[in-house]
Amino acid sequence: MTTLIRNATVIAWQDGQHVAIENGVVAFDKDRIIHVGESYDGPVTDIIDGTGRIAAPGFVNAHLHLTDTPFTKGYLEDNVGVIDRPNQEYSANLYRALPAIRNATDPDAQVAAAVCAIAECLRTGSTTIMEMAYDEEIMGGGDIEPVERVALAAGEAGIRCYTGPRYRKYFYHEQPNGQIRYDHNPSDGRDRFELCKKFVRTWDGRFEGRLKTFLAPGQIDTCDPDLLRETRKAADEIGCLIHLHAGQSIQEYRLIKQSHRLTTIEYLADTGLLGPDFLIGHGQWLTETGSANDLKSNEIELLRSSESSIAHLPWCKVRRGGAIDSIEKYRKLQFRQCMGTDTFPYDMFNEMRIAAVSCKLVEKSANVAFAPFVYSMATVGGADALGRQDLGRLSAGAKADIILIRTDTPKATPVYDPFLFMVYTATGDDVDTVLVDGRTVVKGGEVLTINVPSAVSKLNEVAKRVRPRIVL
Ligand SMILES: [Zn+2]
Repeated sequence: MTTLIRNATVIAWQDGQHVAIENGVVAFDKDRIIHVGESYDGPVTDIIDGTGRIAAPGFVNAHLHLTDTPFTKGYLEDNVGVIDRPNQEYSANLYRALPAIRNATDPDAQVAAAVCAIAECLRTGSTTIMEMAYDEEIMGGGDIEPVERVALAAGEAGIRCYTGPRYRKYFYHEQPNGQIRYDHNPSDGRDRFELCKKFVRTWDGRFEGRLKTFLAPGQIDTCDPDLLRETRKAADEIGCLIHLHAGQSIQEYRLIKQSHRLTTIEYLADTGLLGPDFLIGHGQWLTETGSANDLKSNEIELLRSSESSIAHLPWCKVRRGGAIDSIEKYRKLQFRQCMGTDTFPYDMFNEMRIAAVSCKLVEKSANVAFAPFVYSMATVGGADALGRQDLGRLSAGAKADIILIRTDTPKATPVYDPFLFMVYTATGDDVDTVLVDGRTVVKGGEVLTINVPSAVSKLNEVAKRVRPRIVL
């Protein structure tokens, strides 16, 4: 049962880097790639013609939110509704708009949102997603059922999904005077923590292993040190990843410093979280200035030697009027970096482009954030963060998670360098075919595993009841 993709420009993984092979081939048998190169002489049962296509590994979208994101459209851009807080450009939406939107939703609305989100992820070439799942602040309960429904939807859609239901001791919101207030969750979040651990244990590995689970203590500033230490202990016992939000705002950085007399990285080390199985979502404010130049030598050593990963969200940062400072500095410090979309659009091409361009702006140089490096963050960078040597790359033994990107279009022609094309010109709409575990889930730009018209009309329906409930 060998399928051969031929006549494509193949992005092959050779000697630890992505290289382009003109007129190359990829052969796979069921869910595994068996050969990548210039030709293949073995027997084949199926052929996919890759003429006018780049055959590339599917993206690893290492940090996103499937369930509330669609409802945040119109509220996270241009500081809509919060323009009276001009000095909070980095956090007004975070502390004011997001809690208001989440509280306006309900479980059915969240599941409807997730189905559309999954369709968009697949359509734009993300074959692996890391979902910071449904939060207990929604509707005030700790019910895990909506997370299970989203996990089922992801499994049925055939996407590779890492899902981690969030738990936390506090929830935050902005008060009318602009101050951020932290309130206690019921049982300090411990009841929810127990539910999340059970979910992580019982759902991992479903859907032929495509569904994976992890522990997601919401944010660094919504958990106390004990909850973070308990998280590390549980992750070690279960053998799962940990992913939390940290480095999201200057307010958060200062709060950690005030409360614990430690910097963010020191605090993450002190609570035992750092490690090769640990991802920091955002990671943009790790110093008072937001610049990696101001990291102390002990912080650099802690982050680098622990092999923790930072899941950057370049578009989310730029949209708030800032820029990561910078992926070039982090690269020189040898930090592990990957990339996610966080909210909308779930388009990793957009994310790569913003990552490259914003780094050039910050560093005031075009000699940084070269396309192959940025592309690696979106592919192997994410796979390495997940501890998966079989994802984010096309090589024998890797999973057959493959996308075909159109280059037979006016905007692509001529393609002198596929990496430059993918980072600086392509968008998710150029993705033609997507395979996960060797199964075709997108063909001719159509998602085959989700009834997209029905999902869109359902989400439009629920949005009608959610939007009037949003009170900023
Ligand atoms: Zn996030």
